[in-house]
Amino acid sequence: MSDFYRLLPYVRPHTGKLTVSLLLLVLAGLAEVLTTGLALPLFDSILLKQPEQGNAHKLKVLVDSMMNLLPGNELLQLSLALLILTAAKGLCLYFSNYKMSHVGQSVVMQLRNTLNRHVLSQSLGFFSLNSTGRLISRMNSDVEQVQEAVSTSLADLFRESVLLVALVAWVFYIDWMLASLAMLIAPAALGMTLTMGRRIRHASLRSRENVASLSDLLQQSISGVKIVKAFGMERHEETRFGSAAAALFRSNMRAARILFLNSPVMELLAVACFIPLLYYAHSTIAEGRLTLGVYGASLFSLFRMYDPIRKLSRLHVQFQRAFASAGRIMELLDTHVEIHDRAAARPLENFSRSIEFRDVSFDYRDASGTSRVLRNINLLVERRMVVALVGSSGSGKSTLVSLIPRFYDVAAGAVLIDGTDVRDLTQESLRRHISLVTQDTFLFNDTVRNNIAYGDIRADEKLLREAAEASFAHEFIMQLPMRYETVIGERGQRLSGGERQRISIARAILKNAPILILDEATSALDSESERLVQRALSNLMRDRTTFVIAHRLSTIRSADLIVVLQAGRIVEAGTHESLLDKGGLYDRFHRLQTQAGWLPVAEGAAFP
Ligand code: ADP
Repeated sequence: MSDFYRLLPYVRPHTGKLTVSLLLLVLAGLAEVLTTGLALPLFDSILLKQPEQGNAHKLKVLVDSMMNLLPGNELLQLSLALLILTAAKGLCLYFSNYKMSHVGQSVVMQLRNTLNRHVLSQSLGFFSLNSTGRLISRMNSDVEQVQEAVSTSLADLFRESVLLVALVAWVFYIDWMLASLAMLIAPAALGMTLTMGRRIRHASLRSRENVASLSDLLQQSISGVKIVKAFGMERHEETRFGSAAAALFRSNMRAARILFLNSPVMELLAVACFIPLLYYAHSTIAEGRLTLGVYGASLFSLFRMYDPIRKLSRLHVQFQRAFASAGRIMELLDTHVEIHDRAAARPLENFSRSIEFRDVSFDYRDASGTSRVLRNINLLVERRMVVALVGSSGSGKSTLVSLIPRFYDVAAGAVLIDGTDVRDLTQESLRRHISLVTQDTFLFNDTVRNNIAYGDIRADEKLLREAAEASFAHEFIMQLPMRYETVIGERGQRLSGGERQRISIARAILKNAPILILDEATSALDSESERLVQRALSNLMRDRTTFVIAHRLSTIRSADLIVVLQAGRIVEAGTHESLLDKGGLYDRFHRLQTQAGWLPVAEGAAFP
């Protein structure tokens, strides 16, 4: 419930619309109540032609004065009153529902945007803890549950509550004794509703969890479909999906059982309550204290009351589902943004001197605890240097470079750019100075043009083309069916590996950031592609400060500084020649690998 209250700040800006909507509902409720009063003349004057009683019931006085405003005989007056009241009620409900729905949809849109912003502002650590499928399921299906509650159910809740209050007041106004008898149902109905609500909330929470698992499995098997097929694991994936779907089915059916039990039980309660009313009516009519018309009008109102009670009870149950989802959404919104700009953070205007790692240590934290991945890293890189990071897989190369754009924060020490701690810079300005080219090139399902211009959507066409030419991508782009406007498919699957890499290099050239982080591809492309990618990379690296996770001997040899990492420590650093002269780990490794031309990444054996 408290999670739902936390949605209030989203609702507050719409208070005006909500108030109008509520007023309209009150009017609609009034029209509805008056409609039930029309049962009185229908019974007494029209159907039964009962003579006027000396002491007219107050209901009769009220209804008569309403009818007398209309022309014609009693039957015509009744018909007109019925038409006018129904039309008035309809209009009020239409505008009220529309306004309420507008509020609901706006709230949900805002919630979605907030969630999206929040998720995108998380550090990379968050994404290793939260799988894509689960995040998407929270942002879509949980938000949909809340949307349903806020846009439709909230309108229903207001409408039915107003109506119920109006009807209760009305029945008490007509005959308080009859009304009190009818109210005997209230505690039982309330008790039932609360119990069912609690149970459905638990069931819903389980359902939402199951939807999340399902969406997680789906996301993985679809994005990894190549591997699924290559390993012939379709059946296995089918079984996994099947059991997750069955779990969802069970939790949904549990919720359905509770939900559908609600109406019949409420109905039974209402009928049980109706019996004493019959007895009461029988005696009072016999004593002549009530006319049949007044009794009919009260009964009609009581029957009318049953509908909002039933709906409210059902709504309560539906809201419990929304509470469960709201809780999951709030949990996501509550995740602390680990990496944020300090209050005094200033923008990095111009990178001009150096990047320094000063006694840096780093831990990864995950569900199983923390693990120290980098220890006491000291490294000074002058502007325009090319630094090659080498070391066996898992030695910490990727982690080290990911500290420069502040994808993670150090556990101890500091990363300094031109002498300023990166934590004292705004993330936006810092990252504007850094280009990243990874070996698993990520392209968006968008046009070639937009993929190249990703960092700068409004990029000048001339610069865009120059970037594509410098990365040797222009030629193959011109062969594509729509050239720069060709949509390249999810993750750029329509292109070859080399082509994808050249597009991502063009992207980095266009961004023109002074610092470059490069993760060299480990798998060899065919020699023509390889040559083009190499030439594109040397165009990209020109005049930039480059950190390259290097696998090619040619890159390593020509680097200004080679840093050898082992188990998170720098064990050697220097130029190719100086390291060979030293005769240490690098020299041993170099001799082993000279023939291959590559540094293996998967074998720890390369760095004993
Ligand atoms: P390299 O790039 O040299 O192969 P990494 O920097 O990727 O090495 O990894 C260094 C160590 O950190 C490895 O032991 C790896 O298992 C661990 N590691 C990498 N990424 C994460 C992560 N997101 N969460 C936890 N541990 C990680």
